[in-house]
Amino acid sequence: MLNNGLPLSAKDSTSIDALNSLKEFKSAGRGFWANVPESEWNDWRWQLKNRISSMSKLEPLLPTLTPEERGGVLLANTKLALAITPYFFNLIDPSDENCPIRTQMIPRIEETHTASWEMLDPCGEDEHSPVPGLVHRYPDRVLFLVTDRCAAYCRYCTRSRLVSNATGYDFHADFERQLDYIRKTPAVRDVLLSGGDPLLFSDHKLEMLLTQLRAIPHVEFIRIGTRIPIFLPQRITVELCAMLKRFHPLFISIHCNHPRELTTEVREALGRLADAGIPLGNQSVLLRNVNNELTVMKALMQKLLMCRVRPYYIYQCDLISGSAHLRGSVREGLEIMKGLRGHTTGYAVPQFVVDAPGGGGKVPVNPDYVLSRNADRVILRNFEGKVFEYPEAADGLPVASPPKMIEETELV
Ligand SMILES: *Cc1c(COP(=O)(O)O)cnc(C)c1O
Ligand code: SF4
Repeated sequence: MLNNGLPLSAKDSTSIDALNSLKEFKSAGRGFWANVPESEWNDWRWQLKNRISSMSKLEPLLPTLTPEERGGVLLANTKLALAITPYFFNLIDPSDENCPIRTQMIPRIEETHTASWEMLDPCGEDEHSPVPGLVHRYPDRVLFLVTDRCAAYCRYCTRSRLVSNATGYDFHADFERQLDYIRKTPAVRDVLLSGGDPLLFSDHKLEMLLTQLRAIPHVEFIRIGTRIPIFLPQRITVELCAMLKRFHPLFISIHCNHPRELTTEVREALGRLADAGIPLGNQSVLLRNVNNELTVMKALMQKLLMCRVRPYYIYQCDLISGSAHLRGSVREGLEIMKGLRGHTTGYAVPQFVVDAPGGGGKVPVNPDYVLSRNADRVILRNFEGKVFEYPEAADGLPVASPPKMIEETELV
């Protein structure tokens, strides 16, 4: 058998109706907060102040809590805090136990079930930190952790050891030491601000940090990793965008996992960032019952393009302690990649990566498009599962015979 498993085209079974319904843009609405004045609802600080962060706040809003969720909520403050902005809470469908937003946000008792191969620091970040809060794993770029706070907390967070400070890790960024390391390390040409969420800072605080980074001559490229455009689109004010655009080249990577997260509010916020000339990328995590299915992922990728965001990475979920119930499988990720490449716009196809457990960094994982490679030819498989030969003389000179398609039977 030439194609082990399904031919590539068999997965292209997404119905256009299912796709289009997932891609519809809707407002998150006002839900329980219909009486809150517009000026407060649209104020990001109001949204933060009114987050759902305890059982007493959650229960009246989500009376359908299951025993598993109830147990999780009660234990959340010893593991990773519970917090959901009112805006984002409105995306939960209370009648659906498997609602993809609910799955990402509401703690479950399974978070306390830990397997021996799971870890608190699955990417070995702490070991690769020359100074606290700065991860220098790759030769020319650093991950700069600026805070341990987020607008809302994702139950699968790879940095839950420090994010929200529920475990008492007590992370405090020390900008002077972090900046000093970058100043003294000319190899660092790319700085990725993350955390926690850098956009939780005030405009002023962020501006101070960006100014100091831009003053370092060898820092060519700055990016911000943030989920705030999704959790708190109210934060993306015109003032913030006007400030950020003074620090170009500045890229932003957002984090969006399900097409429902892309509301009309989010589309407008992303439009403001894009209008400020900020190239936008997206990082998704492959999550069970959220996006481990081709139709959902394809809708997400296409909808991101409509929001002017280029899909960048799909991450295999890290082996974070207590995340087994949330993780999709590498096999599912590969099937999704097969179903995207060639079947939709190339810009809508991200790179699927596994962050190698223990600190190996991001490893790209791809379906097999190169079936074999010899001294004189490469055998290729296209998105439909058809096989092609690309002749190539060992000395690199052009070969006499043109490429031809090989019948599958010739290869078996
Ligand atoms: C992901 C990551 C980066 C950025 O990697 P890119 O592939 O350039 O996006 C840098 N440092 C660390 C530690 C990372 O985990
Ligand atoms: S936004 Fe990012 S850092 Fe914050 S909880 Fe979610 S995954 Fe973790």
